[in-house]
Amino acid sequence: MHRDDLHSHTVPPTDRGWALVLHGGAGGRVEELTLEVRGSYTEGLTRAYTAGADVLAAGGSALDAVCAAVEQLEDDPLFNAGRGAALTAAGTAELDACVMTGDGRAGAITACRHARNPVRAARRVMEDTPAVLLVAPTEARLLDWELATVPPEYFLTPARQQQLRNVQARTLEASRHGTVGAVALDSSGRLAAATSTGGMVNQNEGRVGDTPIVGAGTYARNGVVAVSCTGEGEAFIKGVVAHDVAARMRYLEQPLPDAVASTVEQELTRHGAMGGLIAVGADGCITVAHNSPAMFSAYHDGDRLVTHT
Ligand code: ASP
Repeated sequence: MHRDDLHSHTVPPTDRGWALVLHGGAGGRVEELTLEVRGSYTEGLTRAYTAGADVLAAGGSALDAVCAAVEQLEDDPLFNAGRGAALTAAGTAELDACVMTGDGRAGAITACRHARNPVRAARRVMEDTPAVLLVAPTEARLLDWELATVPPEYFLTPARQQQLRNVQARTLEASRHGTVGAVALDSSGRLAAATSTGGMVNQNEGRVGDTPIVGAGTYARNGVVAVSCTGEGEAFIKGVVAHDVAARMRYLEQPLPDAVASTVEQELTRHGAMGGLIAVGADGCITVAHNSPAMFSAYHDGDRLVTHT
């Protein structure tokens, strides 16, 4: 892959005083999607964007906005997060999620099997424990946090079970669309990021990708940037991709789109890894970038809501 493989959209700050971007995963050719399915993805992204934008328009926090948006996508069985998550080789759903606020707080969960909305559990880790990353929170712990719990079967959908069978029979290349994330700047200048996933289709049980790793799949720092990633998690971990974007902006003073382009080139494309990310700068500038053929996303360009499916 070369730099030409980079697909990138940047929107300068709008006069709304806040900004929000979502992604619904990076992956292969979207021409494979029927119009009907594509329409459903667009609807899901629009619903999630509206949930987050309503929070921000009412003067709410970036943290509440990214959580509201991600929860919608977790509840939507089309996306690889919450219900409808990609399945492990054993046919189970192991969910990872992370939230981070620009003031340096973070919480994440991995291999979660009981929280209906994994992003809420990640937020509890951040707000109610001294930990940053918690593995497989028990149902009792989730109930203690007053979170909705579900049996592990809740997450399994016939479409994902069929996908797993096809991938295991090698009649389908593992498609990666579907991991979800949101980044936001609120009207008080606070940044936040949230990401949620079932991981990679057919992954070994216990495998953990970049999503719940602070600095790899999710990162936020007030005054700089908030980032949420999707793609081949191992490359994002090794390249500490989300933090690399922030570091380029802080230390090299690169503008957001340049920092994103350099990170994708240096840490992904150069290593033959595929994926993408969304980012919002402290000034409200947003960038959506991927080196995969496609990435699902939603953002406002100043005039209208733009969705890519
Ligand atoms: N990055 C996720 C992981 O590696 C997968 C994805 O974004 O599709 O678990």
